[in-house]
Amino acid sequence: MIQYKDDCVGCPPEIGCLGISCPYSNIPITYCDNCKQESTLYVFPDTDEQLCATCMERELNALWAGLTFQEKCEIFDVKEVKI
Ligand SMILES: [Zn+2]
Ligand SMILES: [Zn+2]
Repeated sequence: MIQYKDDCVGCPPEIGCLGISCPYSNIPITYCDNCKQESTLYVFPDTDEQLCATCMERELNALWAGLTFQEKCEIFDVKEVKI
């Protein structure tokens, strides 16, 4: 998930925070939907779940484990050696 953080500490107090145009407000922070850690997020094209690299790799490994030998060969273009 992406949350926006107001991180303003630098706007001069005499003019106050610029609000919407303040470069320090609305800083996007990305959190993994699974482990809730702040991190770079990855998504599959057909889902909304946003995962960190660790959680995504676990998903990918699970998908990989579910593939047949033939499917794995196709992904890497592995061919049977013809004699
Ligand atoms: Zn500000
Ligand atoms: Zn995660």
